[in-house]
Amino acid sequence: MTISDPDTNRLRFRPHHFLCALGYQGKGYSDAFTRNMDRIVQGRLRGKEGDAVEIEVTAQTDSICAPCPHRRGALCESQEKIDALDARHATALNLRAGDRLSWGAAKLRIRAQLKPGDLSVICESCQWLEYGMCEGALRHLHEAAETST
Ligand code: SF4
Repeated sequence: MTISDPDTNRLRFRPHHFLCALGYQGKGYSDAFTRNMDRIVQGRLRGKEGDAVEIEVTAQTDSICAPCPHRRGALCESQEKIDALDARHATALNLRAGDRLSWGAAKLRIRAQLKPGDLSVICESCQWLEYGMCEGALRHLHEAAETST
């Protein structure tokens, strides 16, 4: 499984991975998973032209799932939990499989649709929630917008 479309270089994200990418701080499920996440988030989304990176929404395993030790083919070993996470994030961000948007547009949408504190509801059951880095990133996104207006 490649991390991006070989022809377009477009990434593929399942709905809940937009917020995971925003909050990523170097923690992951394995060394291979973290290396891949570094390439996607630090190397592309937080790179110089990061806001222009195109992402296609998928209902299956995606660019981030590719080297995950919990991946089972096109599914996750915790598929029920992941389906519930994806459904809540898809509703919150109005995302459907097949949608395409830039990372810059995704961040604008996250800011417009989610306020600090909302992750305790839409990310319920995620093991990373308690570390606070994802909520911190969401707060920072709002603060950065306020100081730039
Ligand atoms: S709490 Fe979990 S699901 Fe929510 S943004 Fe963070 S890593 Fe992703």
